[in-house]
Amino acid sequence: MNNHQPGTPLGNILVVDDTAENLRLLSTMLTQRGYTPRCVINGKMALRACNSNPPDLILLDIMMPEMNGYEVCQHLKLEPKTREIPVIFISAKDETFDKVNAFAVGAVDYISKPFQFEEVLARIESHLSLRNLQKQLKEQNMLLQEEITSRLAVEKTLQEKNQILQQEISTRRAVEKALQEQNLVLQQEISNRQRAESALLKSNQELARSNAELEQFAYVASHDLQAPLATIASYAQLLEKRYKDQLDTQGSKFIGNIVQGCTRMQTLIDDLLEYSRVGRSRKPLELTDCNHAVEQALANLQGAIRETKAVVTYSELPAVMGDISQLTQLFQNLVSNAIKYRQDAPPVVHITACRQEENWLISVSDNGIGIAPQHQKRIFQIFQRLHTQREYSGTGIGLAICQKIVELHGGCIWVESEPEQGSTFHFTLL
Ligand code: ADP
Repeated sequence: MNNHQPGTPLGNILVVDDTAENLRLLSTMLTQRGYTPRCVINGKMALRACNSNPPDLILLDIMMPEMNGYEVCQHLKLEPKTREIPVIFISAKDETFDKVNAFAVGAVDYISKPFQFEEVLARIESHLSLRNLQKQLKEQNMLLQEEITSRLAVEKTLQEKNQILQQEISTRRAVEKALQEQNLVLQQEISNRQRAESALLKSNQELARSNAELEQFAYVASHDLQAPLATIASYAQLLEKRYKDQLDTQGSKFIGNIVQGCTRMQTLIDDLLEYSRVGRSRKPLELTDCNHAVEQALANLQGAIRETKAVVTYSELPAVMGDISQLTQLFQNLVSNAIKYRQDAPPVVHITACRQEENWLISVSDNGIGIAPQHQKRIFQIFQRLHTQREYSGTGIGLAICQKIVELHGGCIWVESEPEQGSTFHFTLL
């Protein structure tokens, strides 16, 4: 293969020979054929020329004084810079030429004198093109090595990325699995809750139904009891009136006891009827001014207020969603208790209102006998009293009615108190 471009030198050839005639002959011939020859006459000059500007090929005479061709070749093959330059030995016909040694020291070929020009040129050309091919192969090899290295690097990166991806996939799968499990637990939880909720709803409905039944029963029973009770009371009074003279003191006392019992029962029935009436009313709530409810309650209580010299005050109260008659009843029960459970001093009662986040907090405070902490919850239950009839009369229904009214209005009620330090009843309204 010859890659020679026309017009450019075919190659730089160093001719080493101690015979001037040979040098001239070879130089002329090579120049004529388009090569660029350089001529030197001994081994040392040849090594120097090669080191300063390495030629493409060397034609090297064997028999030279001081340093023969074999030695020159050996030196060249030791140096990396000159190692690859192809060397063709030139041997004279009568010389003893050791071909084996020539190839052993690194020559690529040899030519015997006298020269056959065409043969010399053919050998030069073939070794130059061989050398070129070798160079090309070396370059291609290097490129290939680079390609392999970069591919290996890419492959390594790919493998690493693949590993990361695999890890990512397995982590995601684990997360997905955990999520699925949690989802299952959640589903279970939801269905449990739904079941519990529907059971609660059912028992709430059941409770509401039985409450309504109970209220109906209390209402009917107390209503129906009123008539015979009134009959007993009026006949007892008639007995007392008509047969007064025939009765001794004990007989009159017995009849007095019957009338007193009837009155107490009448009060109980009235309160019970009131209690059951509160739950029965299904009037829709409407915007109601609490000041009006308090005014009405105080008007109803004016006898007791005057009698006990009570001082009842209230600050500006809000309008709330409510039932006016129930709210009146609520204030009336609380103020009436504040007056009833007084100490020696005249009762002082104050009603205030304070806006909270979503509702109103209304407080009724007094300077009465107070309530011990252990009783503060149970007094809101029906029939729960802390005193005998002799100490304070009552039925134990008033606060139960208050609680029912507040709850029907969506609020709650409680008390803050210390014995002999007065009490404050708080309740919330929307
Ligand atoms: P009653 O007043 O008919 O007994 P209530 O239900 O109104 O029934 O009250 C329950 C109990 O709570 C009362 O017996 C009383 O002991 C106590 N109580 C209620 N209000 C007050 C108050 N303002 N001060 C002290 N004790 C009270």
